[in-house]
Amino acid sequence: MACIRKKIKRLLRQLQFHAWKHTCFPKNFCTLFFAMPELPDITAYITALEARILGQKLERIHLGSVFLLRTVAPPLESAEGRTVTALKRIGKRIAIGLQNESGGNLWLVLHLMIAGRLHWKAPQSKLPGKAGLAAFDFPNGTLILTEAGSKRRASLHVFEGEAALEAINPGGIEVFSTDLEGFRTALTRENRTLKRALTDPRIVSGIGNAYSDEILHTAQLSPITQTHKLTPEQWQRLFTATRETLTEWINRFNAEAKKSFPEKVTAFRPEMAVHGKFNQPCPRCGNPVQRIQYADNETNYCPTCQTGGKLLADRGLSRLLGSDWPRTLDELEALKRK
Ligand SMILES: [Zn+2]
Repeated sequence: MACIRKKIKRLLRQLQFHAWKHTCFPKNFCTLFFAMPELPDITAYITALEARILGQKLERIHLGSVFLLRTVAPPLESAEGRTVTALKRIGKRIAIGLQNESGGNLWLVLHLMIAGRLHWKAPQSKLPGKAGLAAFDFPNGTLILTEAGSKRRASLHVFEGEAALEAINPGGIEVFSTDLEGFRTALTRENRTLKRALTDPRIVSGIGNAYSDEILHTAQLSPITQTHKLTPEQWQRLFTATRETLTEWINRFNAEAKKSFPEKVTAFRPEMAVHGKFNQPCPRCGNPVQRIQYADNETNYCPTCQTGGKLLADRGLSRLLGSDWPRTLDELEALKRK
């Protein structure tokens, strides 16, 4: 059985590479296969990094791709020789705070986007060929950033001081530092579908395609309900479901990250209720999970639990969700509050 699973995994990996080369695959194939790390994944990376690099000196940085670095000043080399004093999540980004002996504060900010992943290797490890974007050498190990595929979406910014760092924050509310009223205010600033409101980085911080599907399933709300239509009882349900779903996954991933560095960051976890579970039975009611396809994305939901039995998979409804969406995930991620 384990052998068959290995074979299937290998085959899927091969398919991934072909998908980039040939257009006969659906254009959202890669987006669906990989997925952008969200709040629970980023939290797990930070937990694992805190145990390894906090208090350590960043000795050298090796860049594997010139496209990764998106700032020119301060220069990347100015981070070398500094000690890691803080790790922070900003939306779906990881910020590494570094100080020199005189107390000067520098931040390296990584956005993994869809196919970027972090790895912890032995000290002085080399950057892997094509996929290697950057290596950060510490005395106790090397942090390596890779990105699968040929699209260079992952990014690295260097900022000096806290104020400059804040400039990259898209401005979405933090679910764990707001109350129900703050949550409702943020989500109703514009009339959006719930799916869009939850995943817009200007509205809510750190949530993407996977956890929005899980949150809406827990809240038993339709992804296409518009935020201006929600009743007070539904707001309460959505707010509670958002916190509970994220807490459950953060706890699960943090427990894993305390044991070993998170090497298998994927949005498709067998324990998920609906995300990535098209046609599989809903864990609450047993009916098959459905999907709506739009832009380069899809959302999964259970009609029985979320939409009063109504199938949303017809063209008109896909269009409704599509019209509430930028053309690509990249565009959604690039949104910033003015
Ligand atoms: Zn169900």
